[in-house]
Amino acid sequence: MHRLSKKFIDETKIMASMTALDIEGLKKRYKNGVEALKGIDLEVKEGDFFGLLGPNGAGKSTVIGILTSIVNKTSGKAKIFGVDIDKDFNKAKTLIGVVPQEMNFNIFEKVEDILINQAGYYGIPRLVAKKRAEKYMKLMELWEKRHQKSMTLSGGMKRRLMIARALIHEPKLLILDEPTAGVDVELRRGMWAFLKKINEQGTTIVLTTHYLEEAEALCNTIAIIDKGIVIEIGQKKQLISKLDKETFIFDLKKPYNRTKKPPCCEMKVIDDTTLEIEVMKGQDLNAIFRHFDRYGVGIASMRNKTNRLEELFVELTKGDRK
Ligand code: ADP
Repeated sequence: MHRLSKKFIDETKIMASMTALDIEGLKKRYKNGVEALKGIDLEVKEGDFFGLLGPNGAGKSTVIGILTSIVNKTSGKAKIFGVDIDKDFNKAKTLIGVVPQEMNFNIFEKVEDILINQAGYYGIPRLVAKKRAEKYMKLMELWEKRHQKSMTLSGGMKRRLMIARALIHEPKLLILDEPTAGVDVELRRGMWAFLKKINEQGTTIVLTTHYLEEAEALCNTIAIIDKGIVIEIGQKKQLISKLDKETFIFDLKKPYNRTKKPPCCEMKVIDDTTLEIEVMKGQDLNAIFRHFDRYGVGIASMRNKTNRLEELFVELTKGDRK
């Protein structure tokens, strides 16, 4: 019994430290001479929710294109759960599920058929495929729509169908390219909940996004890529703790007609009752409240001006890299 449990623990440890995605020195120069990737190194641990973050044109889609053999790399290596994509792409393909930016299914095909046919590409027997399709349609809240043509689905349902389709062969790694680009806030929140659920159920997720809020809400590890190089990588919490200042918006109950700033802060007047206050990390916010209290000005509300990841992002990408 004791031996059994030790073996189990050892195996669990090995599993826990397994690398889902290992990218080394990845370079891509397109035919037109654009150097989209200038030597990217990335490591994604099994079970992680990993955000590949960067502005438009940073090279995010190129990385995904290489992993799915849509784009030929110029040089470098990529392994998916230890499988080198150059040596055994067919095996690597079974380990990875990709949700592209563009919807690319047959609009006349029914929801259930899209999933069962996709399973067919992976050689999954029809009966198994039917069961799996049911599981993922239920998970993605598409079950009621299973007999409908995909063209009749709402935008949000179509996105969920894309995810269900990417999961049908039960890949260990799910990659999503800008999954919520152009979708409204409500839909985005719903997608986040689905993705969190899938991750909690054991699927490693890599997501590209240029929405910092999205990375902050979902990811444990974040790599920031800009102009084809990784400029920062680390735990979300560590990245955020690098910030040494935060900006708050204070809404006042009545006008503050003075120029005197609260102690140790930078203050910008937006209008009569709105102030922008920059606070150093570790600063006691009570000092700010006491300051306004002294002048008989109550504070109606206070909020972060930007999310903190955004501040870090702006900080890191403001330098001119060529
Ligand atoms: P992101 O996904 O971060 O927006 P991309 O990987 O799409 O960035 O693009 C990285 C760079 O490569 C950009 O400068 C883009 O214009 C260029 N690029 C992307 N695809 C091609 C292509 N097929 N041919 C030439 N240049 C391309």
